[in-house]
Amino acid sequence: MEIEELKAEAKDHVELQRHQLIQLSLNIHDNPELGFEEEKASAWLTGYLEDSGFNIEQGIANLATAFRATYGRGNPRIALLAEYDALPKIGHGCGHNIIAASAVGGAVASKLIIDQLGGSVIVLGTPGEEIFGGKIDIVKAGAFKEIDVAMIVHPNTLNMVTVQTLACSPLEVEFFGRPAHAAAQPYEGINALDAMILAFTSINSLRQHIKAEARIHGIITDGGEAPNIVPAHTAAVFLIRALDDDYLTQLKGKVLNCFKGASLASGARLEYRWRDRAYAPMKNSTTVAGLFKHNLESLGRHVEDYDPRFGFGSTDMGNVSQVTPSIHPTIAIAPPEVFIHTLDFASAAVSEAGHEGLMDAAKAMSMTVADILQPGMLGTIKQEFKSG
Ligand SMILES: [Zn+2]
Ligand SMILES: [Zn+2]
Repeated sequence: MEIEELKAEAKDHVELQRHQLIQLSLNIHDNPELGFEEEKASAWLTGYLEDSGFNIEQGIANLATAFRATYGRGNPRIALLAEYDALPKIGHGCGHNIIAASAVGGAVASKLIIDQLGGSVIVLGTPGEEIFGGKIDIVKAGAFKEIDVAMIVHPNTLNMVTVQTLACSPLEVEFFGRPAHAAAQPYEGINALDAMILAFTSINSLRQHIKAEARIHGIITDGGEAPNIVPAHTAAVFLIRALDDDYLTQLKGKVLNCFKGASLASGARLEYRWRDRAYAPMKNSTTVAGLFKHNLESLGRHVEDYDPRFGFGSTDMGNVSQVTPSIHPTIAIAPPEVFIHTLDFASAAVSEAGHEGLMDAAKAMSMTVADILQPGMLGTIKQEFKSG
């Protein structure tokens, strides 16, 4: 069968699934589950894939809500990645319900391509993207060693096939002071909250002198017990982000110095811990992105070049992209003034535009599977990955 016929059949097969895919998306959206607690979403997605002839492995990389669903046999192995975690209080304000439904829809529609051209299509269920970076565990467990190409499509306000994301390192800090009556014997106290506020102030001063794309931001998770007790303990979580790992390392040292200086000034003892799940920057496969772009445009979507003004975030797909040729395109489901991680974006994720984004993402991914399986294409993709 000619490739254009295969692509047409794959698109038709996504359309055949329209009702089920939208229902999956709505169910996940209506039942928001936080990272690593996505039991319902994981069960619905694997149930759908099992009914569609996929072989299911639940709970990979020691993550109960992660899964691998495989169709086909042998190489090449192309993975479509699903995310399905929600955000505290705003539910699916990142639209991961669309990511999940488009990945399974695209994979099921790819079955007929696999039947014709060989290889395997795999859905990897990757939980806890927002807070924990579940893909980092899945990468560490070696699950991507056998994957040749990985794709995930994230809803947003523009159609873009490459994105720039930041390396990101989470830092937990604590200050330990000494309690005292804040009015009667304040001289007996060591104020752990002062230490924390000093550190915030130092970081604010540092911020003027860092590269434009870098970001430092945090919250205080323990600010003391009562206003009449000198705070003996404070805690905070910070995220430090930069365009590349080298600058991130430099910046981490400077941020840490802000905490060390605050410790010295206040007398409160500092303890800190870099969380071991750090997000890597995105390395886009331009070859796969080019194929995806052509397919997305054939569906009538206008694709924009990546614009740095679009804003920077971080994703654990960055870690996948460092070990496997990957793309992380965005699909437009909302007007530009609606930003992700808001209640408005959560509404957009179940709007008509959201449903169309889901359908087009699934179609473009299955069409791209057909492209990747053309003779010679994987060699080109791997060569570019090695030289990048
Ligand atoms: Zn998000
Ligand atoms: Zn997201």
